[in-house]
Amino acid sequence: MKCKRCRKAAAAIELPSHHSAFCPECFFVFFKRQVREGIRKHRLLSPGDRVLVCVSGGKDSLVLWDVLMEMGYETEGLYIDLGIEGYSERSREKVEAYARERGKRPVVVELAKEGIPIPEAARCIRMQECSICGTVKRYFFNRVAAEGGFDVVATGHNLDDECARLLGNLLHWQRDHLARQHPYLPESGAGLVRKVKPLWRVSELETAAYGFLKGIDYVTEECPMSVHATSLVYKEALSLIEESMPGSRIVFYQGFLDEGNPLRRAAESGAADGGEADGGTEGGEAPHPCAACGAPTYAETCTYCRLKELVRKRREGRSKEAAG
Ligand code: SF4
Ligand SMILES: [Zn+2]
Ligand SMILES: [Zn+2]
Repeated sequence: MKCKRCRKAAAAIELPSHHSAFCPECFFVFFKRQVREGIRKHRLLSPGDRVLVCVSGGKDSLVLWDVLMEMGYETEGLYIDLGIEGYSERSREKVEAYARERGKRPVVVELAKEGIPIPEAARCIRMQECSICGTVKRYFFNRVAAEGGFDVVATGHNLDDECARLLGNLLHWQRDHLARQHPYLPESGAGLVRKVKPLWRVSELETAAYGFLKGIDYVTEECPMSVHATSLVYKEALSLIEESMPGSRIVFYQGFLDEGNPLRRAAESGAADGGEADGGTEGGEAPHPCAACGAPTYAETCTYCRLKELVRKRREGRSKEAAG
């Protein structure tokens, strides 16, 4: 099959949802156009922004960093070492190698050094790894960005991720989660940095193809904790729908973001204050600094500090038991 854009080279990727097929060069043009459109549509980034890109070593986040650099944004990478044996080391190597080749050094946060490595913390307080991980990552994304004077934090969530999240939120009618689901979450004067998802228009397949055709070396294994993630079930369901009705995902998510969508309007009125501050939004009140670490929160101390304190106490209790 020939590329439908240049009509000369052989197509390397077929995209039924766009009724198209592209050779590598034309696919790069198409992909960047999609990302640029996603940025423009919701004014995610401005030309002078300093962007902190959260990189996990996987395809989405490294592709995001790559595209933003090529588009001329001033970027730095942030890698959070979750303390997952083997997987964390291998992911970190990929991030550091990618950065080194481009004359960069990522900011690295080691959760083991912070006293909260995910698997051990989860065992201590008998919680799901992914729930702890989400809270801790969000905390450090904001903290590193605020301390480093970044204008914005960018994450590599793609269309498949966002659709799976939307389906999950709708199935359970999670109104507060729906209120905070958007590729653009605004900053607040209280120390909350703007958060954006510039890949929201491109699918997982497109991101993987971009990474592969560009020769980006990313970690292909999934996080070992992801096996029980419900998002995988939603992704599978959406893949079935997409297969028989190409283009369903983008219609589903764009429709949700549409300003005319009554669900969106209701969600926005709930999220009017402070985007994604710790502990959600409460009665229009603005977040204030956490008494322990200064991060924006609605409670006396932020969720991260409370989590860390709980892990510390349980760890102490366990070692006392073991000693006695
Ligand atoms: S699968 Fe869970 S533990 Fe692993 S990176 Fe994702 S949220 Fe964190
Ligand atoms: Zn072409
Ligand atoms: Zn705190």
